[in-house]
Amino acid sequence: PYVIQTTDIAKEYVMGTEHIHALRSVSIDIKRGEYVAFMGPSGSGKSTLMNIVGCLDTPSHGQYILNGQDVSRMSDNQLAEVRNKEIGFVFQTFNLLPRSTSLENVALPLIYAGLSKRERTERALEALRSVGLADRAGHRPNELSGGQRQRVAIARALVNTPSVLLADEPTGALDSKTSYEIMALFEALYAKGNTIIMVTHEEDIAHYAHRIVRLRDGLIETDEPNHNVTQPA
Ligand code: ADP
Ligand code: ADP
Repeated sequence: PYVIQTTDIAKEYVMGTEHIHALRSVSIDIKRGEYVAFMGPSGSGKSTLMNIVGCLDTPSHGQYILNGQDVSRMSDNQLAEVRNKEIGFVFQTFNLLPRSTSLENVALPLIYAGLSKRERTERALEALRSVGLADRAGHRPNELSGGQRQRVAIARALVNTPSVLLADEPTGALDSKTSYEIMALFEALYAKGNTIIMVTHEEDIAHYAHRIVRLRDGLIETDEPNHNVTQPA
């Protein structure tokens, strides 16, 4: 059961007379429950690939099947719907609403799911519990450490039970001790069966993942299981 199947996807940006081949031909299959790192130097195509996999953008060529649905030629509205349902995003800079509590931040995606306030609160609390932050439900982001903010963001990403957790440089704004805590949380989420894709340019962060896909110049350079997973626990 593949969650993600891309076949020869390419992305071309046209700038005046120049054509930039951000992705040339990328085929990746990811099964449910895998924990994959997309690695590569700046400009290799990581962001472009992440945007396509995350249904923020569509490929210029090729096919992308997400959870059995062909999303490669969807309209922006259809794509937004699939994205809200299937993808949980985690960003380098957390992207929390500063005036809202942890609970409100985590409950936000559920508003679009049409749940009652009571259900939203219950589910958001459950998600906060799953990242070890139930006791910070009433705190605002500026009352939390960087690692706690990122855990709130991870709870928000998971609250809709998405098919894929898609994390873009999730430790990029954190010190090494806090990064380690977030990687321990990812390992625990992986052990519970979550499908995780982490985009990073940092070699030691990629080694927490169980499979490493290396990009270079818009192509896959290598795609291998990681037999030496860094164990954060
Ligand atoms: P990161 O790799 O840290 O995610 P970005 O994706 O923002 O960084 O940018 C990666 C590269 O893509 C940079 O060299 C940047 O100049 C280029 N880039 C990003 N967006 C655009 C754009 N809209 N137009 C031209 N170049 C862009
Ligand atoms: P990475 O995330 O690995 O740094 P990107 O996917 O951001 O790589 O970029 C891949 C290539 O595509 C780079 O050459 C970058 O400059 C170019 N690029 C990315 N986004 C845009 C854009 N919106 N318009 C034009 N060129 C872009």
